[in-house]
Amino acid sequence: MSAAEVRFPESLWAAVTPAGPELPQLAGAGQADVVVIGAGFTGLSAALHLREAGVDVAVIEAAEPGWGASGRNNGQVIPTLSRPDPDDIVAKHGAAGERFVAVLRDSANTLFDLARRYQIQAEQEQTGWIQPVHSPGRIKIA
Ligand SMILES: Cc1cc2nc3c(=O)[nH]c(=O)nc-3n(C[C@H](O)[C@H](O)[C@H](O)COP(=O)(O)OP(=O)(O)OC[C@H]3O[C@@H](n4cnc5c(N)ncnc54)[C@H](O)[C@@H]3O)c2cc1C
Repeated sequence: MSAAEVRFPESLWAAVTPAGPELPQLAGAGQADVVVIGAGFTGLSAALHLREAGVDVAVIEAAEPGWGASGRNNGQVIPTLSRPDPDDIVAKHGAAGERFVAVLRDSANTLFDLARRYQIQAEQEQTGWIQPVHSPGRIKIA
């Protein structure tokens, strides 16, 4: 039984996921230029990119990496928004909107490239994206 199963026996996700690395418990005082609170996708991505930029960074996690939404979602890598039209975002927010749409557009490739680069074993499959539509309005968005 993994450490996560022992600590959080109610989680199906923990029960079917290979155990993560054993990590040290925070004790006493530590020091880093940047401290990231929370080891979900957001915190780990921030920490990884800071480290790649040469910044001294530490991650503090209350449970274990991926314990929040990042470790218990549907696992779909979807480079779209469910409702807003990218053109509307650019029209409303200008250059910032363009940057946001570009991040969104490239997000799936960014994720899969990162997993390949670091050889992260996440059972990932990059096989394309099917967008079913059921109304004229949805066709416009698709
Ligand atoms: C049911 C469900 C299904 C989803 N399906 C999808 C999907 O298919 N595709 C998709 O792209 N997105 C999906 N999402 C959304 C996606 O999972 C989240 O947007 C994403 O995981 C958020 O990541 P995060 O790092 O911001 O937060 P989290 O993953 O929640 O990470 C926060 C971390 O911070 C830690 N923490 C909190 N407070 C403290 C503290 N005080 N000190 C130390 N640590 C702390 C927590 O333990 C946790 O590990 C889904 C979400 C849910 C809930």
